Amino acid sequence: MDVKYKKYEQTANNILNEISNYYSLPKIQIRWSDLAKLLKDKYEVIITPYTSFKGKIAQIFAGSLYVDSTGTIIGYNATSQQKPSRQHFTIVHEGVHYFCDVNTSSSQSFSDLLQKQAYSIEEQEQEDNANFVASLLMCNDESLIHCLSKGYNFTKLMNEFEMSSNAMWTRIYNYLHYNLEIPHNRSKTLTSAFENGDSLDRRTFLNAFIKNKQTFVKYCKDVYIFSSNDVRKMFSNIHVPFNGSYFYQLQNLIDDLFTEKGKICPNCNRTFFNKHYCSFCGTKLNDYQFIKKEGLKMKEIATFDDGIAKVCPNCSIENVHHNLLCPYCGTYERNICTGITIIDYAEYILNCPDVIEEDLDWLFNFNPDNLKKLNGGIPGNLIFENVIGTDDYTYSKYHHKELHQVPGYARFCPDCGCVTSYCLQGFLKPVSNDNKSKDNANMK
Ligand SMILES: [Zn+2]
Ligand SMILES: [Zn+2]
Ligand SMILES: [Zn+2]
Ligand SMILES: [Zn+2]
Repeated sequence: MDVKYKKYEQTANNILNEISNYYSLPKIQIRWSDLAKLLKDKYEVIITPYTSFKGKIAQIFAGSLYVDSTGTIIGYNATSQQKPSRQHFTIVHEGVHYFCDVNTSSSQSFSDLLQKQAYSIEEQEQEDNANFVASLLMCNDESLIHCLSKGYNFTKLMNEFEMSSNAMWTRIYNYLHYNLEIPHNRSKTLTSAFENGDSLDRRTFLNAFIKNKQTFVKYCKDVYIFSSNDVRKMFSNIHVPFNGSYFYQLQNLIDDLFTEKGKICPNCNRTFFNKHYCSFCGTKLNDYQFIKKEGLKMKEIATFDDGIAKVCPNCSIENVHHNLLCPYCGTYERNICTGITIIDYAEYILNCPDVIEEDLDWLFNFNPDNLKKLNGGIPGNLIFENVIGTDDYTYSKYHHKELHQVPGYARFCPDCGCVTSYCLQGFLKPVSNDNKSKDNANMK
């Protein structure tokens, strides 16, 4: 686990233990109000609502902590500008400052605004600590696991812990990313699907997963070869039905875990998880990621006969219904000539006017994340609007009479050399590191 996050967890656990001992309350029952109670009962902290703020200050002021030898006051913005969930978070946040950042022999004060403040490095660390620990106190690990396993949905969790949707989202993401070590993007996808996935399968996957996580973690540690059969076996072990959406969601999760932590034996090609040496031949293992990236060079996206992707190249969910637009992520599922020349791509899309045609390195190394800064992260929309929308400027430059479909492996249109939609969206990368193919690209 991330070193900093581990520290936040320890701090939160110390405070939780104190609450648990003081009130003889199991952790699973501790909620934010118990911390407020402890501050009042044991430390005689005065927690007081500020209700008379008006105007700008009512919008930006969150709360404050004042400590001196005579006592401690936590004040929080209780005007209608602040939702109750935000008020609770502020009280807990100031409470964490009290436990972690003050020394009662001298007078000290903190004040927190909702806007980003210019903090010194030390102050920033205190604020990060207060936010992370507050989040862990409002919804502690035991309670979160308990509620998820019992099948609580997102709204029910928000109500149970009296947290805002943002705070709840972050709390779940942190648990997946830091505690379960699920890679960043997959943690994001899982959390968002849990909050507002478009099908019941998507919204409930996290419940099924958390309920069975012990078996899953054990399985990841024990198993040395991941084949589709193993996945099938694991499904029966963790009591998740081997079908439809749950299957693909778990498969995606495993793929991502493997890309980040998987290993492969360069001698006998067996794959391992979190190990260093092959348990069959003793060879030192390579990162799976390395192998996978190499493989990506010549990656091809499998399509049906009419050119529609069999598995969505963006979200990796199987396109069982043969949709032209992915129902999960909105991706346009065919590989088409976008009519966007490499020059235009650089100039208008990547906003990189200095590029010259021969200099394709930027394209070879381009990071799909850059595309996300545009258009809300959906280059598919860009294609949709620019190419398919008939009266568009870009369309007038389109080299084909109608929407031109290209093979599932094409990075560039074989007929006019423009960037393909799979390439534009980063699903296929132009072949790099290989001077031959670079020369080919330049020769066109
Ligand atoms: Zn603060
Ligand atoms: Zn081996
Ligand atoms: Zn998709
Ligand atoms: Zn073309």
